[in-house]
Amino acid sequence: MLKVYLFIQYKYYKHVYPPDFAYYIPNSIYEAVDFLGRYDNARPLAGGQSLLPMLKLRLLNVDYIVDLNPLKELDYVSLNKDYMEIGALTRYYEVLKSSIVNEKLPLLSMVIRKVGDMQVRNMGTIAGSLANADPASDTCAVTLVFDADIVTTSSSGNRVIKARDFFKGPFTTALAKDEIVTAIRYPILEGYKFNFVKVVRRAGDYPLVSVAVAVKLKDGVIEDLRLGYAGVSQTPYRPFEVEKSFIGKSLKDSIEDIVSKVVEGVNPPSDTRGSSSYRKEVMRNVTRKALREVMG
Ligand SMILES: Cc1cc2nc3c(=O)[nH]c(=O)nc-3n(C[C@H](O)[C@H](O)[C@H](O)COP(=O)(O)OP(=O)(O)OC[C@H]3O[C@@H](n4cnc5c(N)ncnc54)[C@H](O)[C@@H]3O)c2cc1C
Repeated sequence: MLKVYLFIQYKYYKHVYPPDFAYYIPNSIYEAVDFLGRYDNARPLAGGQSLLPMLKLRLLNVDYIVDLNPLKELDYVSLNKDYMEIGALTRYYEVLKSSIVNEKLPLLSMVIRKVGDMQVRNMGTIAGSLANADPASDTCAVTLVFDADIVTTSSSGNRVIKARDFFKGPFTTALAKDEIVTAIRYPILEGYKFNFVKVVRRAGDYPLVSVAVAVKLKDGVIEDLRLGYAGVSQTPYRPFEVEKSFIGKSLKDSIEDIVSKVVEGVNPPSDTRGSSSYRKEVMRNVTRKALREVMG
């Protein structure tokens, strides 16, 4: 019996350590992107909450790690006239600690409070999550609700990519090989109501399905509706056409129609967390709950 146990341990759990890689500490953003451009199979490291597990599980192999952590100029939160800028190295816990974020971006706080566990929030960053582009990421989904501006730097300069253009597929983004996220700009949504509903199998886990909602109402009539889903598609998902089709309608009278429309054209993945059809059912339920609660 012991032999069988040890064999299983060896066969399936032998990879406790990541494969060998060279480790580079840049002195500036420029040095970081220059290195990424010059060397193949190099990856930036932020909080390591996705990168290190992927290396340990051999889902990814890299030859070089470029550690962004010494670049303290990327660790900040700043409020501008109509948007909040969050530097790429700002940890989740720092975002949650920021009273200005809690006041101006309550939806972002609501979501981040439920990302992983305390260890993940102590080290993880929003930028790392966006660059990782996990289709089940709550952080990516809420960033899509804001359609935030993702600010990047590469050897050829800076650019701004809208969240809706950033996610290209599972774990795939619009970032070039030598390009890093340096900040995210979240527009301040004034006069909106917000909600976030997440279904997980275990506390601290990625969602089976989650939805972040921002809705602007005038006398109960929808002026703007934004729904961002994690876990239902190949990328974080926003049903733009469905959202648009309910503008000018009463939210109270539209909830069931919205619930049935959002699953149209969606083909959620089947995996160990749940089957495609089950995810669709959960998608309907989280949408209904989120919208009912938002009406108060
Ligand atoms: C146990 C556990 C539970 C989790 N639960 C949730 C959850 O409930 N909801 C959720 O949304 N997420 C969840 N996560 C994911 C977590 O949010 C991400 O792992 C984390 O935010 C990634 O950020 P990081 O700074 O650790 O990135 P890293 O792990 O350092 O990097 C991730 C990827 O992004 C790249 N990268 C990092 N920073 C940059 C940058 N500035 N520019 C370009 N590329 C960059 C890296 O090269 C790597 O490919 C969970 C993770 C764990 C381990």
